[in-house]
Amino acid sequence: MKTLEKIRNFLGLNKHSDYINRYFDESNIKSGIYVSSVVILLELFMISSVIIRQLSPETRRSAYWLATHLVCYLLLFCSALALFIYSVRHIKKISTNRKLWEVLKYIFSIISIVFGIYISYMDYKKGEQFVTLMTMTIFVFCFVVWRPIYSMLLMGATYGIFFFVCDHFLPATYATKINLSIVFISILMSAINAYRQKFTEAQKDEKLEHAQSILLKLSISDEVTGIANMHYFRSQALELMHDKSVDIDTLIFLFLDVENFKILNEKYGFWEGNAFLKNFADMTEKVFKDSIVAHFSNDNFVVLTKNEAVQERLQTIRRNLLGMNYDAKLGLKVGAYKPENRECLPLIACDHARYACYSIKKHYNHDYCEYDSSMAANFQKKQYIINNIDEAIKAGHIKVYYQPVVNAANGKLCGLEALARWDDPQYGFLSPADFIQTLEEYYQIYKLDMYVVEKVCRNFVYAKEQGLALIPVSLNFSKLDFDQINLAEEVEECLKKYGVDKKLIHIEVTESTLSGDDERLKDMLKKFRANGYALWLDDFGAGYSGLNVLKEYDFDMMKIDMKFLHGFSGNVKARQILKNIISMAKELGMSTLTEGVETEEAYQFLKENGCEQIQGYLFGRPMPDHELYEKVKAGLFQLDL
Ligand code: C2E
Ligand code: MG
Ligand code: MG
Repeated sequence: MKTLEKIRNFLGLNKHSDYINRYFDESNIKSGIYVSSVVILLELFMISSVIIRQLSPETRRSAYWLATHLVCYLLLFCSALALFIYSVRHIKKISTNRKLWEVLKYIFSIISIVFGIYISYMDYKKGEQFVTLMTMTIFVFCFVVWRPIYSMLLMGATYGIFFFVCDHFLPATYATKINLSIVFISILMSAINAYRQKFTEAQKDEKLEHAQSILLKLSISDEVTGIANMHYFRSQALELMHDKSVDIDTLIFLFLDVENFKILNEKYGFWEGNAFLKNFADMTEKVFKDSIVAHFSNDNFVVLTKNEAVQERLQTIRRNLLGMNYDAKLGLKVGAYKPENRECLPLIACDHARYACYSIKKHYNHDYCEYDSSMAANFQKKQYIINNIDEAIKAGHIKVYYQPVVNAANGKLCGLEALARWDDPQYGFLSPADFIQTLEEYYQIYKLDMYVVEKVCRNFVYAKEQGLALIPVSLNFSKLDFDQINLAEEVEECLKKYGVDKKLIHIEVTESTLSGDDERLKDMLKKFRANGYALWLDDFGAGYSGLNVLKEYDFDMMKIDMKFLHGFSGNVKARQILKNIISMAKELGMSTLTEGVETEEAYQFLKENGCEQIQGYLFGRPMPDHELYEKVKAGLFQLDL
């Protein structure tokens, strides 16, 4: 450090950080309590002693004397009292006005020093020591810490004035001069020393605080967006909900879901996706200022806010989303939940809001939904499903049912579709409509699907042991299976483990899961194909991706969705559409299977128009494995394998 810098530091001329300024203030305010209380007591004693002195004729002094002394004592008393009151209020956090503190500090210091000079001057005139001046300067410069330059200037002026006045009245002796200089230097050194000590402490504290704030920030903020994480959200929300000054009925939890973020992510890549999330988080925090905002997961955010102008604020976010320059139609779905009491747990409240949000996910004309009691039963069922899927698999509550698929040309059984059922001890019989979507929402679906693969394999082993015909089975997979696990490898391993021929397995993927540029899905399907599995396109025409996916993927079989058969009889258009789909599939090199065939009329029509396979209640409903084997054993099915 250069010499000049050293001198500046010694004099306290360097710029203090806000933290160090606050540190000095806080410690000075604390000392202010001691100094002012000592001065208050001292002055009370002095006031009462001069009054007592006036009561006795022997000690009584002039009225002028009494008045000047009383005024001096009272002034000092009042300034100390003001300092005391302010310091106590500050420590109790009732009032924290830095300017007021400065004013009071200066008033007290000036009064103390003037008082010190005056009283000690009087004493000097009587030939006594300048103890009052000494005491007052210790109070002002040692208990309260000043920058050294101020201490030097102010104390220098104080002692200079005092010396000048006294020396003027009666030239000071050598001893007095030495005494005065020693006192001046000692007090000044103590003042500078106090400053240095406090300054070092403050610097250390500041560094610690900084390190702590970094650690805190890391532990409370979300890595991608930089806003609060759910852990911090929970603690902040708990604090707010238990704050008695906040009316709980005015609070509302919001769950925000950015629509089509996945498209943005796929189109623009991971980094741009993250940049968008950060932008979105900052924007949401701005729109919901004075609220608690956190990143929930992926494209989901939660907000705990006052239920005021919520719709207007959400509209602002939607407008901002539309204004963003992305080639993806970004929208915002919001679920809301009003906590009923202070005991409501924030994470449960978020789950309620999330549930409300997901209930409108597929409703194109709804973008806001509040959780109500009618949703509660459903919500509980969902929670039950998520909490019990592992146990249900372990305990054998998940069953695989088989639905016959027949060759359209002769009506003989040529395949089966494996369909999951959940036979639950509490909820009874659950159909896929109850649990598939929930398991997907919570990323648990792969557990069920892999269990079905295993169960189907075991059934093949059983059929082999029993000498029964091996009927090909088609398996349903969720899009998430392709994202979450190495599906091709896992299926391959499972088949190997049970010695099942892959010709007996068809992989069904629903049309809704396909999007034009999902490279991972494409690669995985290619792997399946390379491994020798047949790929079936399920629910074709159910209304999601449409014809586009046919360009991008190769399938062996197109399963035509049953919706084309609704109102089939007498509907010329429905027939025309079916005809065209079948011939289009042929042209693209795919066979066709129509689902949901319930009437002879529909069957005959499909057969005549070249649909190769049929699945539907007309030929059999999904049935448990034992029923299937009984029927096969009893020869109730004619087979076409
Ligand atoms: P899906 O793959 O299209 O299965 C055909 C659905 O149509 C089955 O419903 C079946 O019972 C029903 N169905 C068949 N024939 C007829 C008919 O003639 N009339 C009527 N009205 N319905 C018929 P299910 O078993 O309720 O399954 C519904 C959906 O749940 C399945 O549609 C499939 O997408 C999914 N799913 C079922 N099991 C699994 C599974 O293990 N894993 C996955 N990921 N999804 C599954
Ligand atoms: Mg299917
Ligand atoms: Mg289907």
